[in-house]
Amino acid sequence: MMQILENAQLKELNSFGLDVTAKQLCIYHSPDDIRQLIEQTGGIVGKRILILGGGCNLVFVNNFDGLVIHPANSYISIVSETDDHCLVKAGAGTVWDELVAWAVEHNLGGAENLSLIPGTVGASPVQNIGAYGCEAKDIIESVNVVSLTDGSVSTLSNADCRFGYRDSAFKHELKDRYLVDSVVYRLSKKPQFVTHYGSLSGEIEKLGGPSLRTIRQAVINIRNSKLPDPKVTGNVGSFFKNPTVSAAEAERLLAQWPDMVTYPAAEGRTKIAAGWLIDRCGLKGYTNATRTAGVHTQQALVLVNLGGATGSDIMAVARHVQQSVADKFGINIEPEAIIV
Ligand SMILES: Cc1cc2nc3c(=O)[nH]c(=O)nc-3n(C[C@H](O)[C@H](O)[C@H](O)COP(=O)(O)OP(=O)(O)OC[C@H]3O[C@@H](n4cnc5c(N)ncnc54)[C@H](O)[C@@H]3O)c2cc1C
Repeated sequence: MMQILENAQLKELNSFGLDVTAKQLCIYHSPDDIRQLIEQTGGIVGKRILILGGGCNLVFVNNFDGLVIHPANSYISIVSETDDHCLVKAGAGTVWDELVAWAVEHNLGGAENLSLIPGTVGASPVQNIGAYGCEAKDIIESVNVVSLTDGSVSTLSNADCRFGYRDSAFKHELKDRYLVDSVVYRLSKKPQFVTHYGSLSGEIEKLGGPSLRTIRQAVINIRNSKLPDPKVTGNVGSFFKNPTVSAAEAERLLAQWPDMVTYPAAEGRTKIAAGWLIDRCGLKGYTNATRTAGVHTQQALVLVNLGGATGSDIMAVARHVQQSVADKFGINIEPEAIIV
């Protein structure tokens, strides 16, 4: 019988460290658990549910008045290999960075640039996590899912997942229909190193030149120097998406602010660094009146729980940041974090 915990604490299950509860919480180990859950509850689909990995990209504005399913199936195994690559399967509950460390130890390439991204393997296809010029979609071979309707198991190909920038079909037509049980990654025995991004190549040189180990270490060093550790200061990484504007709008903005940080985007549009916009509003280090929540002092894109913040405190800071950016630049910035 699947155990359902009532009024369960979620403080340890969200990286903002918000002190919230779930009406019900189930710990998932295998597809059998979903079948049992469906039998016990008379069906899950249509009810208020949340699949919760590490909670590293979520803001709980209130206690969660529904059923939380938390995958805890943690394993890494080799499915098959050739001279060139290795197919590696990992359970959804595996800590993402443990998989990256395992791959590097086994001289398998493809995940090293994604070192130290907080969260679980199960969220990696949902979010199409990315950093330093690489994305999960580049190494995902297939995703094994469990239907929340009937507990049946099926496999989705990389194409089925319709990956986009921090986006996938799991956030759209597959949302609340499937739980990611495990992911198969295609890791290379003859990796092509991706070292051009930002300050990565300089850091790699300091460590003796490119190898899987030095790239992983360089990424870890840079991330540790830039981003607050959620175990110390609650946060979800980048809180806002980088907005895109039309070419004409970009021209107007660049005429007024020539040092605005921009990148070319799809369909001739221009992406603007949201961190630059927030910084230029003078909001680095901003805190709310009660000093429970604010903007990180080093990274304008990161909102932080300074101690005892509620989800509402975080959202009030987020609204202040959005309003300030809209007032100064006429640009709307949207949260990347999922508001629950
Ligand atoms: C300090 C910091 C730095 C970060 N840096 C980066 C970065 O560089 N790049 C980046 O891409 N992200 C980054 N993030 C965001 C975060 O790490 C990723 O979004 C990560 O994938 C979240 O994993 P999680 O297990 O915590 O997912 P959660 O936050 O628990 O869930 C995220 C979404 O995935 C769904 N989900 C989770 N598990 C499953 C499953 N098994 N089946 C179906 N749906 C599921 C949830 O329902 C939710 O919609 C950062 C976060 C922090 C705190």
